[in-house]
Amino acid sequence: MASDHHESASALVLFSGGQDSTTCLAWALSRFARVETVGFDYGQRHRVELDRRAVLREALAKLSPDWAARLGEDHTIAIEALGAISDTALTREAEIAMREDGLPTTFVPGRNLLFLTFAAALAYRRGVNDLVAGMCETDYSGYPDCRHETIRALNRALTLGMAMDLEIHTPLMWIDKAATWALARDLGGESLVSLIVEETHTCYLGERGKRFDWGYGCGECPACRLRAAGWEKFAASQG
Ligand code: ZN
Repeated sequence: MASDHHESASALVLFSGGQDSTTCLAWALSRFARVETVGFDYGQRHRVELDRRAVLREALAKLSPDWAARLGEDHTIAIEALGAISDTALTREAEIAMREDGLPTTFVPGRNLLFLTFAAALAYRRGVNDLVAGMCETDYSGYPDCRHETIRALNRALTLGMAMDLEIHTPLMWIDKAATWALARDLGGESLVSLIVEETHTCYLGERGKRFDWGYGCGECPACRLRAAGWEKFAASQG
């Protein structure tokens, strides 16, 4: 995990515009001297999350002069092939439900492996040795590519295969959604929590019409329910 020697280093954050990756971006901005971001366009059915990215980067920079000075370039990588080979509820009109194997229909096989591999190639070209990503084993909805073991194995494969000193940081790996809200508060206070509530997007249905305590969404899909439950637990712990 990050320590003081990273203070002078650069990081590349996998940044989708959701709650988790926004918290990861704040985490990176608190630790690394220079922080770049990368987003992936793979033909998502809903563009709203990708559209949040620029808004969030600008808002994070406004929260802190240090963060503004550290925030570097943003990159977008189009991976159309992922949409073409996937048949999931995120990329076409299909009901979001649990499949017979226990995985939600939002599962895109190997998506995070591809994202991290593209990000590592970009990091190599940018001279960056640290990747930051929001994978989480605690609330991972059964996504096997979010598991700690998967990330460690891929980290080793990328280090060997690209002959680079790469470290993949996953600050959310062992914490739940309530602790992710608490981490945001620790990193950026109430103003960061408010920013994440107002500006990040999590809803699978691409819904931003309804405003709940925890932000905008449909309130019904698995992503909204997970976000809402985490918020309730966080709010209760605040007293
Ligand atoms: Zn929703």
